[in-house]
Amino acid sequence: MKYDVIVVGAGITGAATAYFLKKRGVANVLLLDRDQPAAGGTGKSAAIIRQHYSVPIGTNLTRESIGLLQDLNEAGFKSGLAQTGWHMLISEEMLEGTLPTVEQVKSLGVETEFTDLASSRIADLVNPEGVVGVVYEPTGGYADPVHATEAFVEAFKALGGEFRPKTAVEALVGDAKHVTGVKVAGETLEAGVVVNASGPWAGKLGESIGLDMPLRVVREQDSVWEIRPGRPIPEGPISNQVDLVYARPLGNRRFVVGRSFPKPYHDVDPDNYKLDADEDFISDLLERLERRYPWFQGAARIDSYAALYDATPDWYPFAGPRAGVSGYVDAWGGSGHGFKLGPAMGRRLADWILDGKTDDEFRQMSHDRVAEDRLFVQRFGGNRG
Ligand SMILES: Cc1cc2nc3c(=O)[nH]c(=O)nc-3n(C[C@H](O)[C@H](O)[C@H](O)COP(=O)(O)OP(=O)(O)OC[C@H]3O[C@@H](n4cnc5c(N)ncnc54)[C@H](O)[C@@H]3O)c2cc1C
Repeated sequence: MKYDVIVVGAGITGAATAYFLKKRGVANVLLLDRDQPAAGGTGKSAAIIRQHYSVPIGTNLTRESIGLLQDLNEAGFKSGLAQTGWHMLISEEMLEGTLPTVEQVKSLGVETEFTDLASSRIADLVNPEGVVGVVYEPTGGYADPVHATEAFVEAFKALGGEFRPKTAVEALVGDAKHVTGVKVAGETLEAGVVVNASGPWAGKLGESIGLDMPLRVVREQDSVWEIRPGRPIPEGPISNQVDLVYARPLGNRRFVVGRSFPKPYHDVDPDNYKLDADEDFISDLLERLERRYPWFQGAARIDSYAALYDATPDWYPFAGPRAGVSGYVDAWGGSGHGFKLGPAMGRRLADWILDGKTDDEFRQMSHDRVAEDRLFVQRFGGNRG
């Protein structure tokens, strides 16, 4: 049998793409994962959701993703969306660039504000030293990334989509001009279109037929802490750009905590890297957190680990068909902020695949931007958007 579309990788991006293809009525869609849904970067994601982006497409995709996660909930699939509000602490150095971003985000229809710390909802939770202001977005927050991905997979299956876990794609079939399927356990599965949504492993897959894959796979450390009882804690995530740390609630007084850009990044082999966090990462993190948040003092470390970012040269994903390559679609390169983009990327990719066209804004996401020398330019760089 020839599939209409094969989607490789059931992270948030691939799961959403497969779902929206089925929702548009495509008959034969196969979603494959070499492991389980959310086994890649998605499952380890802090999954903080903010629409504060200096590049409008980041705001627009995230706002759309929030709506799509709400839709999943309404359809009876639990997406784990928690619109607790999102705060960002701003340093003197970032002030000048932050204010125009807040105005731009407002002009795109997102409710947001910039205030001094004393007037913010988190005034009592933050040591004010060096904090020149706070950005707040009431509709931001986070999602449970595993629930969200599983919800898309379940909704896809409910529409008749075929999902095969524990099924690794060994290579793409075809060449750098025309892709006709994928190789699985030595056999060819034919498809009209193959979507490469394999995250940090996307490079290996694309290179199997000689495609240009400008992808850095870097190790990203994270940790989980439990706060001592009786202390007031924030209800939603805080992206702290003064100390370069983020913290987002997990429930039960627990928080997932990691370091923000800029910081050193180390390239690794996605199939062979150190899975434990480094002790010096933990001690440095703890020092930053205890200094800033009185409620964090004495917190107990519950877990720590390393995961992977799939980073592109401009820290924006590659999504969509490429000029001169038929039967192939990119959907990778979340660059440390791709969870919140994933649902909307999936929906827009499904439309692009089926209609053969997209709008000017989403066309920017194609890998064609490399050859055309129009990489995204953002105000602060990295995964800050
Ligand atoms: C620690 C950490 C914190 C993060 N925090 C945030 C955040 O706060 N907010 C945010 O928006 N983003 C965040 N991100 C980024 C975000 O999680 C990712 O960009 C996003 O989840 C990537 O999703 P994906 O579906 O593109 O890729 P992945 O989730 O990596 O999925 C790829 C899938 O492909 C499968 N696969 C790979 N190769 C093959 C193959 N050959 N055959 C079959 N299957 C294959 C894998 O098993 C995997 O399930 C964070 C990432 C990490 C690691």
